[in-house]
Amino acid sequence: MSIRIENIAKVFGGFQALSPLNLEVEKGEMIGLLGPSGSGKTTLLRIIAGLEGADAGRIYFHDRDVTHVHARDRRVGFVFQNYALFRHMTVAENVAFGLDVLDKKQRPNRQEIKARVAQLLETVQLSHLAKRYPQQLSGGQKQRIALARALATKPEVLLLDEPFGALDAKVRKELRRWLRSLHDELGFTSIFVTHDQDEALELSDRVVVMSNGKIEQVDDPVQLYAKPASQFVFDFLGNVN
Ligand code: ADP
Repeated sequence: MSIRIENIAKVFGGFQALSPLNLEVEKGEMIGLLGPSGSGKTTLLRIIAGLEGADAGRIYFHDRDVTHVHARDRRVGFVFQNYALFRHMTVAENVAFGLDVLDKKQRPNRQEIKARVAQLLETVQLSHLAKRYPQQLSGGQKQRIALARALATKPEVLLLDEPFGALDAKVRKELRRWLRSLHDELGFTSIFVTHDQDEALELSDRVVVMSNGKIEQVDDPVQLYAKPASQFVFDFLGNVN
């Protein structure tokens, strides 16, 4: 599913969090949103998901104008910061939640949900943990479950907010590789937020560098280093490590 963002803008109480910005993402691409804290990455991601409304501009999924379509009906998978799993639900129930919230017309029956959850747990290689509760899992396992839940509705677009932010370096590296191969295998379009330069460069087909609610540059990782489009990008890439 391709995504087209046209002149999207957002103001929070007089503060311009996003200046009108444009971005086109091709079907099957993996895009990293990179930039300092407060640059508008999460806001942009939430607007694409429909979790936040924009003040101006339009968003298209392929040729469909989804600007005013409810988050649930956009059929995107969303992985929240810090997993956001439900403590009182088992792993299997957490994964099923993605399907339980669908409206009646779209919701599979009990049997189908059970089969789908089993299949998703297999995809993330955690079938043996189906009956556990989130607090009994490691950080990496929680992240896999959050991903399984996001994939429950078979979305064509997967959005991830700092997906590996809370994990230690070794697990981060493993999960990065795993996410990239899952993305390639299932063929969805992915956008993830990170402030980790290595993560953005290693995972993304193209990186979007943001600052102060604006897009500074959109390029593949090699070009980004070879030809930084502004002094900001040059300094930002140089100063992070
Ligand atoms: P990033 O993800 O790059 O750290 P955010 O998109 O979270 O940046 O935030 C961009 C700016 O918008 C920040 O200055 C932040 O304080 C502000 N902001 C984000 N969400 C809200 C909100 N719900 N209400 C008020 N200000 C917000």
